[in-house]
This record gives sequence, structure tokens and C-alpha cells, in this order.
Amino acid sequence: MHSPLHTPLMGQMMHQSLTISSILQFAARHYGASEIVSRRVEAGLQAGLQDALHRYTYRDCELRARKLAQALARLGVEGGQRVGTLAWNGYRHLELYYGASGSGAVLHTINPRLHPEQIAYIVNHAEDQVLCFDLTFLPLVEAIAAACPTVRAFVLMSDRAHMPAGTRIPDLLCYEDLLDAEDGDYAWPELDENAAASLCYTSGTTGNPKGALYSHRSTVLHAYASALPNVLNVGAIDTVLPVVPMFHVNAWGLPYSVLLSGAKLVLPGAQLDGKSLYDLFEGEGVTFSAGVPTVWLGLINYAIQNDLTFSTFRRTVIGGSACPPAMMDTLIDRFGVQVIHGWGMTEMSPLGTTGGLLAKHRALPVERQRAILQKQGHAIYGVDMKIVDDLGAELPWDGQASGHLLVKGPWIIASYFRDEGGDPLVDGWFPTGDVATIDPDGFMQITDRSKDVIKSGGEWIGSIDIENIAMAHPAVLQAACIAMAHPKWDERPLLLVVRRPGQEVGREEMLKWFEGRIAKFWMPDDVVFVEALPIGGTGKVQKNKLREQFKDHRAAQGVAGPGQARL
Ligand code: AMP
Repeated sequence: MHSPLHTPLMGQMMHQSLTISSILQFAARHYGASEIVSRRVEAGLQAGLQDALHRYTYRDCELRARKLAQALARLGVEGGQRVGTLAWNGYRHLELYYGASGSGAVLHTINPRLHPEQIAYIVNHAEDQVLCFDLTFLPLVEAIAAACPTVRAFVLMSDRAHMPAGTRIPDLLCYEDLLDAEDGDYAWPELDENAAASLCYTSGTTGNPKGALYSHRSTVLHAYASALPNVLNVGAIDTVLPVVPMFHVNAWGLPYSVLLSGAKLVLPGAQLDGKSLYDLFEGEGVTFSAGVPTVWLGLINYAIQNDLTFSTFRRTVIGGSACPPAMMDTLIDRFGVQVIHGWGMTEMSPLGTTGGLLAKHRALPVERQRAILQKQGHAIYGVDMKIVDDLGAELPWDGQASGHLLVKGPWIIASYFRDEGGDPLVDGWFPTGDVATIDPDGFMQITDRSKDVIKSGGEWIGSIDIENIAMAHPAVLQAACIAMAHPKWDERPLLLVVRRPGQEVGREEMLKWFEGRIAKFWMPDDVVFVEALPIGGTGKVQKNKLREQFKDHRAAQGVAGPGQARL
């Protein structure tokens, strides 16, 4: 008779750690000739640069990743230590993905769109030992280098020809010189699959950014699952162009899932405007891509304005913020591109759900099918989810009841890096901060965001930071920053200000106050002066009321969104 006390009969299978280097080794051995094409970062900075595209194979990438691992060891980087990157999607960044994590160090991708002070905070919090960065970010790194005492080596991800003549960064190293000094005679170490592999910070509503520390195992499992047909459906026959940046949640895991699938990988560098992307899509035969809605807006507008069609592009995943229905319709009806709506978050590696239809939906009229595709989608194996009311009681999956969305699974954080913010879990579930419905077929739809952050072009804008700066102005009594709808960036910040009695301050002066204090794309699009702010029972400003009150407000003039060049 079965007894739970019995020693279980163990399986007799080989043990192999699920490590990131195993993906690259597999890719190089079994799909060695598959191509990786990158638009050189230098191409955007140097007009007329010949050879704007860099091409090599998985096999070449693996060799260079090994040389990089040797170079990191020579710089004194030890297992578990963090290697920071400030970089676009490109082949050197990909080598860091594999070379740093594969060697046992932790790849720490940093979002260069954050304010320099926040970047310095993140570098210090992570205790980055090495900071590798693209040429675009030289001025940024020059500005923060002195404030980053843990960084022992600053590495410019470039060749000797593009090294600056003079720089304020002490002992600036050249990436290609570091690799040239190594022979590649390096064996990837056997690592514990639960060891940390990469680190990515997320900025919440309150306090400083917090780190999600991914393990080798969580990364490999996420990559496996995300390649499935119900999810991203990546195969060796595809040419994949991740527009979603490698500095934000590991480009939705594509640098891993593409390589384990054997597909051709196309990395767009710094040029994310409609024309540059279109040229790359057509030139390289891109079949599948991924990005936030803002990126698609640029590409779609360019194609429409120039009456262009896509000859190979067939599928895209859109996420990071809700895909507008009109965008989905245009992509499907005008361009014949299948749209997969994806939802997830930094804390989830990031994929949680993806949209799609079930077999029984095939017979439905197109509008009803679209309504299903509009939902954020179905859970991916590995992710469980539930919705609960304010008291934590689970709500039905009837497509009507909306509640706080909680998730659990092997690629969802159990705690933040260095336990920042305490235990985030509620009975073993991670509260996403999103509010959602789930229908009887298991399709989830986000109805609201319980957080108050503003999402502009897929990037967070911390409203509390903006309010704090506003309230530091001598004439400001109170301030609240909320999202207002924007046709291009989805959301932009609107600042509401209560003046101190007897004080004067106008819109222009207020906006000037922010100059140099925040990233340009954080700059409020408009300032409205009000008599008072609605305050709730716990003494907090009720932003939902403000959002309702100002839902039709539009700024007189826009400012640069995150995709525009501050960088
Ligand atoms: P991040 O950690 O920056 O990736 O942001 C995660 C948050 O973005 C989620 O908690 C959602 O609020 C939002 N989000 C991501 N994908 C979607 C989507 N497809 N629709 C609506 N909101 C989304």
C-alpha cells in the first residue's frame, strides 16, 4: 500500500544544471551557423559609416562570450559579483548576457533612460564591479562615474578606433582590446542552477528602485516556456527582431529563447524610429518581433505614410502596456501581422500571460475574436494566477469580477534583491499591483492598475519623485502627478499643483523648476493649478478621483517621450 512515509523511488536520469551557458553551448553546437545581425551603435553616431550592420554566427558569439568570461576573470570579477551594462540591443550586449552570467557573475542590465541619480543609486545598490556601456552613454557614465565607488573597471563597448580622445572616466577600458587579449580557451563552469544569473531593477510607486534577481534555472525555464506555440512560438525558421530593449527585463527573455530555438536574431541598436526599423525588417527578412505599443506606432505610421507593406513580417508580441485595439486592427487587417498580446512584469522575468484563440473560438465572428485577443491572455505553464478581493478572498473566473491579480511560479520573485521592501508575498503569491478579470476559459484582462506610476512609451515615470520635486518649490503647497492619455506615448505626466497662500508661480516657471532635476521624458506635459486635492480616509491623495476629473485634459504642447533622444 502507498504510504507517504515511503522513500520515493527516484528517477534514474542524468542531472544537468539548467544554466545560461548551456543555452549558448547548445546553440553554438547545434545551430552554429545561425546568424546574429546587429545595427552597430557607432552607425547612429557616425554618418556614412560603412558596414552599419555587424554579422556573425552563434558559433562566433560563443567564442567571443568565452573570451569575455576570461576578460572578466582577468579584471578580478568573481562568482556572484555584478557586471553592469548600459547598452542597446547589440551583439556585444548579447555576449555580456552569456559571458557574464555563464562565468558565474551576475549580469546587471541598467535602464539608461532613468535619471542619472537613479542610475548611480542602482549601480551602488547592486555594487557593480564592472560597468560596460555603449558609446551613446559615454556622457552619462562620465557624469556618474565619481559617484560609483564599487566600479573597478569602466568598459566602453567599442573598438579602439571609437575610443574617445579624452575622457573624465579614469582608466577607461576598450571592450575589443579586452577580448583581443584572450584566447578563448575557457570551459564554462558547472554552476548551481539556483545561483543568481542576472539582475534587473524595477521602479515602484514609493521609494527607490528594487532589484529582481533571476537565477539560471528561472531564466532557462522562462526561456523554454516562452518559446512554446501558445506563447511566442519561436522556431528555427524564424528571424526575430526584439525591439524591446535588452536593458529592460532581459528583452522579454528573447536573447535566451531565440538562441535555444536556433532562429536568426536581428538586434536594432539605438535606431528605433519607423524608417530604421522598417529597413531592418525588410533587409533581414524579419518574421517575428516584440515591443511596447509606442514602438509599433512609429513603425506603423511610417509604413502607412509611405504606402509600404511587410514582405516577411508575420507575427508580433505587444506588451508592457495595453495594446490599443486600433493598433491591433491595423496590424492584422492592413498588414496581415498576427498580434500576440503579452502581459508580465520585471518581477516575473517577465512573461505571465499571452493572448490567442482556442479552437472553439475559430467559428466566432471577427469582432468577438478580437475581443478575446485584446485580453492580456492565458497563463503560460509555469505561472499560476488568481484574482482576489480587498480581503484576499478568491474571486470567480467569470470574466466580470475584477480583483487584485496575484501570481506564483518558478520565474516569479520570492523576494527583492537584498530583501528590499520586506517580504512581498501574500500566502506564497506575488501581488502584481494590477487589477484584472479572468474569464471561464482562463483569459485574463487587466482592468486597472493599482499602482499610480505613469507609463510613457512602456517606461515607468515615478509620480512621487515628480511630486517631491514640485513640492520642493517654495511656492508649492501640494502636488500630485497623474497620467493623462497621450496618442503617441500612451500616457504622459500631468502635474496638479496647489499654490501656497499668497504665493505666485506659473506653468512655465514650474516646468523650468524640473530642468536638470529629472530625466527629460519625465517632464510633465502640463501643469494645472487647483484649489485643493482630494484626500482619502488614510490621508492620501485620491489619484483615481483626479484621473477621472482630468481624463479629458490634453497638454497644449508635448515634450520628448522616452523614445526620443535625450540619449
Ligand atoms: P514592468 O515591470 O516595467 O515590466 O511593468 C509591469 C507592469 O506593466 C504590469 O504590472 C502592468 O501594470 C503593465 N503591463 C505589462 N503588460 C501589460 C499589458 N499587456 N497590458 C496592460 N498592462 C501591462
